[in-house]
Amino acid sequence: MAATSRGTTPAPPDVRPRLTVLSGPSGVGKSTVVAHLRKVHPEVWLSVSATTRKPRPGERHGVQYFFVEDEEFDKLIANGELLEWAEFAGNRYGTPRKAVLDRLEAGEPVLLEIDLQGARQVRDSMKEAHLVFLAPPSWDELVRRLTGRGTEAPEVIERRLEAARVELAAETEFDVTLVNTSVEDVSRELLALMLRRPGDQNISG
Ligand code: ADP
Ligand code: 5GP
Repeated sequence: MAATSRGTTPAPPDVRPRLTVLSGPSGVGKSTVVAHLRKVHPEVWLSVSATTRKPRPGERHGVQYFFVEDEEFDKLIANGELLEWAEFAGNRYGTPRKAVLDRLEAGEPVLLEIDLQGARQVRDSMKEAHLVFLAPPSWDELVRRLTGRGTEAPEVIERRLEAARVELAAETEFDVTLVNTSVEDVSRELLALMLRRPGDQNISG
């Protein structure tokens, strides 16, 4: 299958990217790609975010998210426990700081799956961050995936599609774009990016 990357910025030769940020519009397939990657490579560590969103059927506290009430999220912010946080389509989401810093200190690759606002915060605060944008093959396919997932009410889908227009317009802020045509291909490419060594110029092959 043809490579799905649209471009890449080589890392500086002396820096091995350790912190990979995966972003992209809601419904593009971020969770699916990450789940596939972790099925094949269970050793890949993914940060578990805190959120005020209610769990979807099958989602478990501490696995997909730490599901918290508004007051608890306020406390996480006030205590400086979040590396970044953002409000997205009516709910708040944030990355627990300590777990990420512990992994980075241990020299292990770290993967964050967060929205555009969070990606910008991480880019500004963590010099080792490598930003990966997951793009849909087309707008119509994005709408199909988001609607077909069947987890949100029509008005929530509308809010997420509004956010998607903004996120798609920000693609150029990212270091590399992967187009989610094939979950298997994108997972492999994402892993290659995470494990890239100094001097590697691209991810193809
Ligand atoms: P996100 O985490 O970005 O919001 P999901 O991972 O929940 O998106 O995926 C949204 C929907 O799209 C799901 O129903 C998923 O099965 C489907 N999907 C994900 N990747 C692909 C793909 N490459 N081809 C077809 N459908 C996909
Ligand atoms: P969902 O409700 O579909 O699980 O996630 C909605 C959006 O929130 C997605 O774009 C997802 O990447 C983003 N998100 C998940 N966790 C975090 C986080 O910790 N911080 C930020 N900024 N966004 C997050």
